[in-house]
Amino acid sequence: MKKVDYILVGLGIAGLCMAERIQAAGKSFVIFDSGPGTATRIAGGVINPVVLKRFTPVWRAADFLTEAEPFYEELATRLKTSFFRSVSLHRIFNNPQEQNNWIAASDRKDLNAFLSSEVETNENSALVMPFGYGLVKQAFQLDTELLLASFKQELHDTNRLIEELFDYELLKTEEGSFRYKNYNATKIVFTEGTAVRNNPYFTLDCLIPKKGEYITIKASQLGLKSVLKGPFFIIPLGNDLYKVGATFAHGDHSPKVTNAGKQQLIKALHKIVQCPFEVVDSSVGFRPTVVDRRPLLGSIQNKRILFFNGLGTRGLLMAPLLSDMLFQYSEQDVPVPKDLDVARFSRTSA
Ligand SMILES: Cc1cc2nc3c(=O)[nH]c(=O)nc-3n(C[C@H](O)[C@H](O)[C@H](O)COP(=O)(O)OP(=O)(O)OC[C@H]3O[C@@H](n4cnc5c(N)ncnc54)[C@H](O)[C@@H]3O)c2cc1C
Repeated sequence: MKKVDYILVGLGIAGLCMAERIQAAGKSFVIFDSGPGTATRIAGGVINPVVLKRFTPVWRAADFLTEAEPFYEELATRLKTSFFRSVSLHRIFNNPQEQNNWIAASDRKDLNAFLSSEVETNENSALVMPFGYGLVKQAFQLDTELLLASFKQELHDTNRLIEELFDYELLKTEEGSFRYKNYNATKIVFTEGTAVRNNPYFTLDCLIPKKGEYITIKASQLGLKSVLKGPFFIIPLGNDLYKVGATFAHGDHSPKVTNAGKQQLIKALHKIVQCPFEVVDSSVGFRPTVVDRRPLLGSIQNKRILFFNGLGTRGLLMAPLLSDMLFQYSEQDVPVPKDLDVARFSRTSA
């Protein structure tokens, strides 16, 4: 029997950040992860502190960013992998009204650190942007595939990753500890993304998977270096490849890419991109969103069974700070903020 402080279930960004916290505190863990069904791997990887539809700050953007930037930089240094970089993010304007709204927003106290007031003119002949664009300051691009691959490598090298489905029925609660196969742990953290809905310990009905699709295009004449946000993101991947998306397909729970999703993205692209492009790949994932659009942190009944979920559309931005809150809750009994406490839903259903 191997003794560890924590068992983690799920290696997306939630599991990864939690593992980092546990490791940094000198505690031990093992992670079970079943593989491909991860929102983190498919994510476009844009870390953006602004709601670009309405020109408002993301909820607690400055707090999240203050924690996320050094967290990912330090992790990139330790893993010797450049998965994280600062990026120019441009919001395309559709009309003069949007230009004016942007300029006004950039003057706001809560936004001026994030929005440049200038309306910039497009000089790329492969793009149609008659009303120009604005620059989001403090935006980042995170290569999630690279991050997950290098983190997994480290876990493999140290025998802390079991790549298999965690079978909830085999989890035995003993006095003061949990037993799962040949592991004995003091605590367990569930970080399964939308799959938490299969978890018998997660007795709440508040998580809604929101499907999103991307296409990857090859466009050798596009020459775009910055991330563009029009109706969708156009994200440069290098080698003339760009990720375009993601759609929001409400009520579609099938894990398959759809022709409708692909056509929606191609149609939107044709309005902005006027050089030839070819669709070379499609991908799909589910955002773990919560009915009140806030994350889920903490425990429901048993303080040693922890949940870290509900990262919605901005998991990469939020996970570093939230993992710190959950770790402090677990180790030092620091309460998680009420609006993030997973137990807020058990209270309403009681
Ligand atoms: C299309 C799309 C685009 C997005 N773009 C962005 C973006 O640009 N920027 C941003 O910040 N966020 C983005 N997001 C949101 C972000 O991806 C999510 O908030 C975040 O990845 C959720 O992470 P997670 O760790 O909670 O879940 P996941 O990443 O889904 O990880 C859960 C893991 O648990 C494993 N698992 C589940 N059940 C079990 C079990 N029983 N046993 C073992 N393993 C299990 C799964 O296989 C998976 O690996 C996007 C999401 C989608 C779907």
